[in-house]
Amino acid sequence: MTQHTDRDIADLRTRLATARKVCVLTGAGMSAESGIPTFRDAQTGYWSRFDPMQLASEAGFRADPRMVWDWYAERREGVRRAQPNAGHLALGAYAQRHPGRLTLVTQNVDDLHQRAGNGDTLRLHGDILLDRWLERCTHQPSLTDVSGAVPGRPPKCPHCGNLVRPGVVWFGEMLPDGAMEAAQQAAFECDVMLVVGTSGAVWPAAGLAQVAHEAGAHVAIVNPQPSEIDDQAHLCLRGTAAGVLPRVLDGV
Ligand code: NAD
Repeated sequence: MTQHTDRDIADLRTRLATARKVCVLTGAGMSAESGIPTFRDAQTGYWSRFDPMQLASEAGFRADPRMVWDWYAERREGVRRAQPNAGHLALGAYAQRHPGRLTLVTQNVDDLHQRAGNGDTLRLHGDILLDRWLERCTHQPSLTDVSGAVPGRPPKCPHCGNLVRPGVVWFGEMLPDGAMEAAQQAAFECDVMLVVGTSGAVWPAAGLAQVAHEAGAHVAIVNPQPSEIDDQAHLCLRGTAAGVLPRVLDGV
C-alpha cells in the first residue's frame, strides 16, 4: 500500500481498461460532493451531531417515531435536491462503455448512482426514498393511500396503528435478500476492485475488500482520509470521489 503517483494512476487505468470484471464498493463519501453529509466525518458527519442509536435503529424509532420520521424526511429532501457528482458520472459512463463488466455495490441509501446511469446498483443498505411498514400489516398490505388517512406523522395504518418507516437498513437489521451474496460473488470474481468513500467501519460491507484481495484482485481505495480497510489495498488514492474517479475512469 503506497501513496499515489501519476504512474499509479496510469497503471490503474490500464487495469480498468483490460479487466474482465470490475467491482466498485461505495460509501457515504461518494455523495459528499453532491452535498449529502457522511456519517462519520468529524466536522460535517451526522454522527458528530446526532446519536446513531436514536436515529438509525428500530428501538430509536419506536421510542420517538415522529422525531425519527422527521429526521428522515429532511434527509429525503436533501437527496431529492442533490445531483450526481463527477465521480458518479464517471462510473455511470464506464458502465455504459463496458456492458456487463462493472458490478457497483453501494452502502448509500441515496439514488445518485442510479441517476448517473448505474441502474442495476446493488444497494446493501436500502433506499431512503422508499416507505415500508414497521410490522407486516395484514389490514392494509399496500402503502398507497395510507398517508393522511390518520392525522400525524409518521403515516399509520387506519385499522391497526402500524407505522410507516423509511426503507433503509438500521443497525442490527438484515440486509436486503440476496444483496450481500451477489456483492460477495462480484468481489470474489473481479480483477479490479475500487473502494470509494467508505470508512470501512460498517460490516459486512467492509469485508468485501478482503474477499477481493484474497481472491487475487487488484484493490484500490479512493478516500481523502485513511480508512479501516487500507491494509487490504494495493493502492490508496488520497483524494475525493469527484476528483479522482474521472482521472481514473474517463476514456478508459
Ligand atoms: P462513513 O460516514 O462511515 O465514512 C465516510 C467516508 O467517506 C470517510 O472515510 C471519509 O474520509 C470519506 N470521504 C469523505 N468525503 C469524501 C469524498 N469527497 N470523496 C471520497 N471519500 C470521502 O460512511 P460509510 O463508510 O458509507 O458508512 C456506512 C453508512 O453510512 C452506510 O450504512 C450508509 O447507509 C450510510 N450513509 C449513506 C449516505 C448516503 O446514502 N449518501 C449518507 C450518510 C450515511
